[in-house]
Amino acid sequence: MDKIIKLSPEVIGHIAAGEVVERPAAAVKELVENSMDAGATAVTVEIREGGLDFIRVSDNGSGIPESELRMAFERHATSKLRTQEDLLRIATLGFRGEALSSIAAVSKVTLLSRLRGSESGMQVQNEGGQIKDIRPAPCAEGTAITVRELFFNAPVRRRFMKKPAQETQLVADLMERLILSHPEVSFRLTADGKTVYFSPGDGRQETAVMSVWGLNTLKQMIPVDGTEQGLILKGYLGVGELSRGNRSQQQFFINGRAMKSALLSQAVEEGCRQRVMIGRFPLCVLHLRLPFESVDVNVHPNKWEVRFSDERGVAQAVTNLVRDALSAGAAEVTPPSFFPPAPTPPGAPLSQVVRREPQAAAPSEAAPVSDAPRAETPAFPPSLRSPLWESPVPAAPDVPEAKEAPAPEQLSAEAQLPELQQSPVRLIGAAFNTYILFESGDTVCLCDQHAMHERLMFDRLMKAYDSGAIAQTLLIPRVIALSYREYGTFLEYQALLAAAGFEAEDFGDQSVRLHSLPLLLGQPQAESSFKEALEELMATGSLSDDKRVEKIITASCKHAVKGGDRLSNDELIGLVRGVLEGNVRPTCPHGRPLMMQLTRTELEKRFQRIPN
Ligand code: ADP
Ligand code: MG
Repeated sequence: MDKIIKLSPEVIGHIAAGEVVERPAAAVKELVENSMDAGATAVTVEIREGGLDFIRVSDNGSGIPESELRMAFERHATSKLRTQEDLLRIATLGFRGEALSSIAAVSKVTLLSRLRGSESGMQVQNEGGQIKDIRPAPCAEGTAITVRELFFNAPVRRRFMKKPAQETQLVADLMERLILSHPEVSFRLTADGKTVYFSPGDGRQETAVMSVWGLNTLKQMIPVDGTEQGLILKGYLGVGELSRGNRSQQQFFINGRAMKSALLSQAVEEGCRQRVMIGRFPLCVLHLRLPFESVDVNVHPNKWEVRFSDERGVAQAVTNLVRDALSAGAAEVTPPSFFPPAPTPPGAPLSQVVRREPQAAAPSEAAPVSDAPRAETPAFPPSLRSPLWESPVPAAPDVPEAKEAPAPEQLSAEAQLPELQQSPVRLIGAAFNTYILFESGDTVCLCDQHAMHERLMFDRLMKAYDSGAIAQTLLIPRVIALSYREYGTFLEYQALLAAAGFEAEDFGDQSVRLHSLPLLLGQPQAESSFKEALEELMATGSLSDDKRVEKIITASCKHAVKGGDRLSNDELIGLVRGVLEGNVRPTCPHGRPLMMQLTRTELEKRFQRIPN
């Protein structure tokens, strides 16, 4: 073992940096909090490559006095904390005095600042924690901090970063929380030059909610506003259709600070019981105010977790207030005045390249989609219902075509199908309501009814998809209000969305009018599936085709008859005919076999009617 030595300030700084700036979003958080502590009413965040290449946070706050510029970069240098008692009543956001020093330790920072009311500004260059240059420089009142090449001198840390798109998403999530927690501040986030979020900062909670989740969501949310046991709870709740599959959209702010709290989540969920399906979670943005002394925000270095001195009391109060809000019903949420509630009709219609065959677009009020309703109705399509009993099945056309490029393990089964197709089929029955038994010519077959139906549905959907019938026209186009970020994504990827079946046009005022959906999606999910596509585009920049095939498989599987379902003889024979006539691959889309065959000769050998 080496001798014990005292670490150099640089090494200490480097270690601290790792804790404070784990990733770009953490650096952005510290910088924006500094801006707000400096009284900024407008904060712009620009990032490139997820923030790994470039972060700039500019504000219109107080600015930093020239005499304090050097100090600002020192560890444990802060203008916000003087005594230990202060720690208990922390009202400002940042207070550890190590953000700037930590960020500077692992990047190349340029700080520009001009004190409010002063004639000119100053510029500081800091590289890897060393101040390289300080000089007067022209700039606007306020502060702009640019962080380049984050972790340039910490290659290990850099390797732990996610893809830029994911780092961007983390910054976007952070900005969501900032917008929701500070409606009085105007935020803008741009990523690689494109605006992701913009909030006007008019001080209204509903404007903030709308900037993040869009007008439609806002209109369906239920306002919460009440006091119990010295706790003030304000915000919005989304139950029923607005509920989500996880808790990521539950936003809690305690005395203005974004917090994660299992305790609060449970308290809200308890209050929302009966209004949210099991397995779903309410959407919410809730602000809690309670005496500073009764919350401990300093329990975690990232200041995310929170502890209450009276956990039970807080939970009970939150549950009660949520329940009250829900029973008071959805008092109409008034949308912010700058956003007209009913968008004006649009101009020219879309001229996107939607590959669609004319016959595929045959919507009606009751069945608004062309081909998909079949996928949604578990009943057999009419073609499978032909009551042909023991009648000869005509040979399928182009039998040899089925042999093109079969998967190796399917060869033997596939080779035998044509023979079955030549002979009349006689249904014997269904064993265990699952396995269809029939004879054809010299062969006895056992088939899996679910696998068969699944294969038939899959083929039909794939065929429709391949023939270009990718979209189903909505009889009544849907107007969908989007969040700022979603709207930006829509504008950017409009053509791509259309090519995938989402034909939509810009409807102005941050909304779109949706005319068609991909074939496989039912109309009830129009809005959510459109938004899911936007999410996927935001995260990855593309819509994966794999997923679409996957969706076809899922749809086929979900809507196919199951093992154990009792089918009529007509339905059983219909399935068999469908498979034999349809010249299908002898496996279900998951790769399981459709049928097993035993020849008369094999049977006779087994029963020793003929010698082996
Ligand atoms: P802390 O915020 O915990 O005090 P930081 O390292 O984040 O520590 O910042 C150090 C000091 O630099 C702050 O206390 C503040 O005085 C000053 N400062 C940092 N950013 C800004 C800003 N955007 N506007 C004005 N002052 C700032
Ligand atoms: Mg700070």
